[in-house]
Amino acid sequence: MSATTDTSSTLEDDREHIWHPYSSTHSDTPVFAVKSASGTHLTLENGKQLIDGMSSWWCAIHGYNVPELNHAIKQQLDSMAHVMFGGLTHKPAVELCKKLVEITPEKLETVFLADSGSVSVEIAMKMAVQYWQARKRPDKQKFISLRSGYHGDTLGAMSVCDPVTGMHTLFSDMLMKNYFAPSPTCAFGEPCLDEDLADLKALLGSHHGSVAALILEPVVQGAGGMKFYSADYLKQAKTLCEQYDVLLIADEIATGFGRSGKLFGCEHAGISPDIMCVGKSLTGGYMTLAATLCSREISDAISNNPPYAFMHGPTFMGNPLACSVALESIRLLQESDWKNNVQQIERWLKNGLEICKQFDDVSDIRVLGAIGVIELKQAVNMPRIQQAFVDEGVWIRPFGKLIYIMPPYVIKEDELNALCNAIFKVLNDGKHR
Ligand SMILES: *Cc1c(COP(=O)(O)O)cnc(C)c1O
Repeated sequence: MSATTDTSSTLEDDREHIWHPYSSTHSDTPVFAVKSASGTHLTLENGKQLIDGMSSWWCAIHGYNVPELNHAIKQQLDSMAHVMFGGLTHKPAVELCKKLVEITPEKLETVFLADSGSVSVEIAMKMAVQYWQARKRPDKQKFISLRSGYHGDTLGAMSVCDPVTGMHTLFSDMLMKNYFAPSPTCAFGEPCLDEDLADLKALLGSHHGSVAALILEPVVQGAGGMKFYSADYLKQAKTLCEQYDVLLIADEIATGFGRSGKLFGCEHAGISPDIMCVGKSLTGGYMTLAATLCSREISDAISNNPPYAFMHGPTFMGNPLACSVALESIRLLQESDWKNNVQQIERWLKNGLEICKQFDDVSDIRVLGAIGVIELKQAVNMPRIQQAFVDEGVWIRPFGKLIYIMPPYVIKEDELNALCNAIFKVLNDGKHR
């Protein structure tokens, strides 16, 4: 069978039987078969090479097929692929958790390993509720979150996602009814005024008796709108939480491991949240793994009070392959000049995307760390723009009105320019309409 027939039958079988993320089985948007990926390039089955502008949704911070990460996972494979975590432990998990405690904000001392970001958010929410139960405050079971926020696709996580993009009406009878503060309006790098926090303060004031925690994405709101907001907002929100006896859950699943220019988004505000979720780039994009960290106060309260256990325990908890590659990914990050690389990408993005300002269809261009966003006035024509980007030799996947890039930190200047130029060309040719 020739390479081309092989590819078309793969794509036919795909179309016939497989759901993709947020997809229709009758979609006109093309799907492309990837044969391999290395460095900053994806190679399609038909031989075409694409420069990767997505890091596979924030994950592949070191690029693909990274020798050190390959080695870590192969070595672990030869000793043990998996073992249950109930009653057993192992070095990869212990060393990873020690490392996470070391590099995350100060107050975070205990780690619960989860299998995906959404699950780590469910765990964070259950931790908050169990903490208040232990503190004899069983009424505190609700959450406050921010509009334009995204925390995952499972039901608990969905209940704190933006009600519109989270499709709350579709699932309205199943979802917990939580509270939403407006998306912060004070821009990144700017101070926050009292009025910027007035709605959040009012919600806390009225509902703190029934609210377990405020959950938010520090500084960068990802899949709910790709917005950046003031670190001052985060700082003041933390203070308000303390005043009102409400925990702060920082969802760092997208922002973690350097993407915004700091190792964690919370560092922009100099705060320690009570609970923190990490995922996505935790394993450098190699395996699915996430973690929920919490303060000693929370783990002690839960552990010292009935039912004397935290009530969660995934089957694949602490998978050794995932833990070992995560540990190696963090080591690689820390040994690299990631801060400088991310700053450089920020400059390149600012320069490279600015030229798109001239288009009437563009409403905003914003860059923070290794994240570049072009917001359009109208949603893109997905089938058309997706094909156009591939024709240009880049992998960029817009959603709604947003065309955004968040490349691996190892990307070179000419590759980054190629990504920016492809966006310019596609907009200039009107292939987004
Ligand atoms: C991706 C993401 C999640 C969900 O993670 P999954 O691994 O897709 O379940 C949660 N919160 C944020 C901020 C994310 O970016």
